[in-house]
Amino acid sequence: MSELSFAELGLDPAVLEAVSAVGYETPSPIQAQSIPALLAGNHLLGVAQTGTGKTAAFALPLLSRIDANVAEPQILVLAPTRELAIQVAEAFTTYASKFRNFHVLPIYGGQDFSPQIRGLKRGAQVIVGTPGRMLDHLRKGTLKLDGLKALVLDEADEMLRMGFIDDVEAILAKTPDTCQRALFSATMPPQIKKVAQTYLKNATEVKIESETRTVERIAQFVLPVYAERKLDALTRILEVEPFDASIIFVRTKAETTMLAEKLSARGHAVAPLSGDLNQRQREQTVEDLKRGKKDIIIATDVAARGLDVPRITHVINYDVPYDTEAYIHRVGRTGRAGRTGKAILLVTPRERSWLRTLERATNSPMEPYQLPSPAALQKMRVEQFEAQLLGFTDDPRAAKAIALLDEIAERNDMDMAAIAGAMACLLEASQPDSLPLEQPEALPEISAAPRRDRKGPPPGKGGFRKGGPGKKFSKDGKPGFRKSGPKGGKPAGKGGKPAGKGPKRAPR
Ligand code: AMP
Repeated sequence: MSELSFAELGLDPAVLEAVSAVGYETPSPIQAQSIPALLAGNHLLGVAQTGTGKTAAFALPLLSRIDANVAEPQILVLAPTRELAIQVAEAFTTYASKFRNFHVLPIYGGQDFSPQIRGLKRGAQVIVGTPGRMLDHLRKGTLKLDGLKALVLDEADEMLRMGFIDDVEAILAKTPDTCQRALFSATMPPQIKKVAQTYLKNATEVKIESETRTVERIAQFVLPVYAERKLDALTRILEVEPFDASIIFVRTKAETTMLAEKLSARGHAVAPLSGDLNQRQREQTVEDLKRGKKDIIIATDVAARGLDVPRITHVINYDVPYDTEAYIHRVGRTGRAGRTGKAILLVTPRERSWLRTLERATNSPMEPYQLPSPAALQKMRVEQFEAQLLGFTDDPRAAKAIALLDEIAERNDMDMAAIAGAMACLLEASQPDSLPLEQPEALPEISAAPRRDRKGPPPGKGGFRKGGPGKKFSKDGKPGFRKSGPKGGKPAGKGGKPAGKGPKRAPR
């Protein structure tokens, strides 16, 4: 991560305010390099893939350079797909949230022209769209570019791959000569280089260098998951993994607290670690992790810099890192002091290309992470519940409890099995999902293979291979699932809760 803060970059105060409202802590490397160049009015050629923070890298400086009070198209972004166009438009809307009467309009094929024409007539400062539809509007005269200040080609290599390059060039030719241009692409095939040479003369080039380093003693896994199912996937990982302590990486300060709250509600001893905490609070959190008062830390890259806690057995990349350097730093928080460690990366379908990038950077393959099937998970939950329950049979208060329940049973003409059933439901009602009463649903499976990689990885070079679950490491590095039960199944302590640190999983 960069040492610079957003405030030092010279962004418009309204844009800066919006950035701090979303909770970004520091600029990502591509942002630290691109923002000053774009603010200075230069053309920009950026080699960066999704997940590096490239959208903000162009959106923040370009928004800082336009006149928000003029309601005509000033920034035009071309994107290869409708999904990306919507995503970029949403990002612009967020970063421009402190401007008044500001409109961002996504336009793409497959949608009626009329709402798009209405949107254009009303006046939008930023237009984000797919090349074909954009060209249609230019030809119809419904989109005019006279006041255009900046044009961005996002994921240019994807636009080439999808056969849009002629449309892109036709649009480029219609933009004013004075217009600032930025081109982002994960790769630089010759046709894209040619476009850059023709339309982005003397561009500043920014590239996220891929650092290569071997990560010894760390078993790396990848789990492809839809963005909206990430929390489900994470809670299952934490349920089945034999971790001692774990660090979970997210992108924003806000996410550290949000996720910590969610995991805490599921019974985990968890704390956030971000730049929102002062030095003393941060030290305290790390100390709590070292001493076992907390088992999980949810951290941003910046806050976890240099963190050295030998009991961290697992690093979970809940959000992908911005670059390979950040990834290498993250996974290096485990496998310390000669121990083994495990790193698990969650990737959404759009982020799948990270898999290859990180394998190359770390010189080692990533194994597919396999969540247990719903049936296996259910079996494990049953075993854990049983072990927990049995942990209370020797509780000195059990005799009193039995006498009390006997009385209730007699008064109501019930047998003890009915009473036990009612008590279990009562427990479930007060701690939802603490009892394995319902089979968990299967998470939808997605492939880890990047779309553009049709052939798949070469044999032995990692990628997504078929096969059973990857090696599972226990604390001492031996393979095998954590045995079920009873971290939380020990006899009760004072508060009626199991003694010791409490359950890693239940109650959730
Ligand atoms: P992108 O590479 O533009 O697709 O961005 C990937 C994700 O990173 C998006 O969810 C952004 O909201 C997030 N993001 C971008 N810049 C930052 C930053 N400086 N700090 C934290 N998150 C960021």
